[in-house]
Amino acid sequence: PLILGIETSCDETGVGIVRGQTLLADAVASSVEEHARFGGVVPEVASRAHLEAMVPTIRRACETAGVKPSDLDAIAVTSGPGLAGALLVGVAAAKGLALSLDKPLYGVNHLAAHVAVDTLEHGDIPKGCVAMLVSGGHSSLLAVEDITVGVEPMGATIDDAAGEAFDKVARVLGLPFPGGPYVDKAAKEGDRLYVRFPRGLTSTKDLERHRFDFSFSGLKTSVARWVEARRRDGEDVPVHHVAAAFQEAVCDVLTRKAIDACKDRGYEHLLIGGGVAANSRLRAMAVERCTEAGIAVRVPRPGLCTDNGAMVAALGSELVRAGVAPSPLGLPADSSMPITEVLNK
Ligand code: ATP
Ligand code: MG
Ligand code: FE
Repeated sequence: PLILGIETSCDETGVGIVRGQTLLADAVASSVEEHARFGGVVPEVASRAHLEAMVPTIRRACETAGVKPSDLDAIAVTSGPGLAGALLVGVAAAKGLALSLDKPLYGVNHLAAHVAVDTLEHGDIPKGCVAMLVSGGHSSLLAVEDITVGVEPMGATIDDAAGEAFDKVARVLGLPFPGGPYVDKAAKEGDRLYVRFPRGLTSTKDLERHRFDFSFSGLKTSVARWVEARRRDGEDVPVHHVAAAFQEAVCDVLTRKAIDACKDRGYEHLLIGGGVAANSRLRAMAVERCTEAGIAVRVPRPGLCTDNGAMVAALGSELVRAGVAPSPLGLPADSSMPITEVLNK
């Protein structure tokens, strides 16, 4: 099937077009620069930017894919979770398209889409795998039997998301927003063993109750304290080393727990998705440790890890291929859509 997917949950206006599991177009317009001076995404600014970018981005995707809207078999859109006003713009646009073209509409879960996007690179998602979702707002370990049916949460962060920790530490280090990519870059020239920052929820006692959960807030505070102490003493802060040591702590915990989750379920496949999956150290460490553990690891290329429309189209395509019934045209934007709900019915 030929599917167009629309993503507007945060600050990226994404429109992707896929045929089956083949990516034909992935047009993204970002308002990230408009938010940078505020140090975080401003919802009203994001909504307005989506409104302005929506039609041109749909047009650009259709041109790139070489398809006419009338060729499409279905429209998919992020129904949630995300910023309410931002989601609304995408949902309204998708409804308009579906109604005018008389095509089915699929209101999908943004988080499940971060997982489903991997089909565009590596084909069918194995029946029985752990998906680690690490993004700006979420950090979860999910057991996946069939992504078109649902996911089962095994654990999640009890405070900050991994991406949030990257962004906050970046701010402490004086790096631009959003910080993840800048920390990644700075860390390349740093010494990962320069300081040993704490690994949240990995003590024997914590593991009893939080075996598959994460905590990054203590790590962030620990980095901030370390940096403050240096500044108080009038010493230079070795940004590269701190970035590398912080990144090492995050990736160490993520990969350890993800592999443990696979072992717990007897799954031989780990799939990693979400913006933080673009992190070069996480990718390298996951490959290294999974290989050692006899687990096959799949991570989409970095450009597909951060928010985009292709991921929404990819999930829509999986749902259509599985014969799942579409959403009603009265589909709401659900800013707190639970991770267990793949499709808004
Ligand atoms: P969610 O998917 O939970 O709704 P979101 O859509 O805002 O949140 P994504 O776009 O999936 O999040 O991911 C953005 C996050 O990924 C940001 O926190 C960003 O700093 C982080 N990120 C992006 N690239 C990298 C990288 N190379 N290393 C670490 N973090 C990164
Ligand atoms: Mg973004
Ligand atoms: Fe996201």
